[in-house]
Amino acid sequence: SVSAPLPNITLSPIGVIESDFPDKFGVPRQPGLAPSARATLRLLPPYDDPLAVRGLEAFSHLWLTFLFHQSPERWTPLVRPPRLGGNRKVGVFASRSTHRPNRLGLSLVELLAVDLGDGVRLTLAGADLVSGTPVLDIKPYLPWAEAHPEARGGFAPEAPPRLAVRFEAPAEAALAVREDAASLRALIIEVLAQDPRPAYRRGGEARTYGVRLRDVDVRFRVLTDEAGSPRLEVVEI
Ligand code: SAM
Repeated sequence: SVSAPLPNITLSPIGVIESDFPDKFGVPRQPGLAPSARATLRLLPPYDDPLAVRGLEAFSHLWLTFLFHQSPERWTPLVRPPRLGGNRKVGVFASRSTHRPNRLGLSLVELLAVDLGDGVRLTLAGADLVSGTPVLDIKPYLPWAEAHPEARGGFAPEAPPRLAVRFEAPAEAALAVREDAASLRALIIEVLAQDPRPAYRRGGEARTYGVRLRDVDVRFRVLTDEAGSPRLEVVEI
């Protein structure tokens, strides 16, 4: 009956993410903002049965349900979304905040490949997930049922603005010798264009920041151009 106590729920991860993002800092704030970002979702036993993904390769996009395992379990009813400059509050359920009851995340990602060679591995593009994220479920995305381009987007009605990104000479030189130069360059631009700095830090300050992408530490600073718009400059890699 309705008055019976509801059960506690125990979930077990079906897989784990390995991504281009070793740390939370720098991870895009939604999927698709850094399409060059690659991730592998490796299924864990007993879910790593090839039968469980039969037919999945016919879908281009997937929903992933996952745990914000690096977020604290504590939550508050009001949160400060970065999109509102970090100083206005909305209800946690009116946000995509990582500090929420049950810490569940939901991301729509592109599926590039299904590999059954050694267990089950899915290659994904555009995921907004830190490496090590436990994944709880996978579902194929159905555009006819789930795409609503006319939907109202609340306090985030459109994609966030992108800042200009430049590379200084030492950064260009470090990139040039890498096998993944082109894709790493694209990834750095996509990540930095989102301005990963915390909202409260967005002044015209002189410090350098570091964001870890793949196996590199990307050092950048923020400069203001003649028109007063911020530009991110990669100092070294
Ligand atoms: N698209 C998902 C959603 O709406 O549920 C995630 C949105 S959340 C605002 C995206 C941010 O979550 C990233 O910028 C990153 O800082 C953080 N994040 C990603 N993986 C995480 C994890 N495993 N634990 C805690 N935070 C994580």
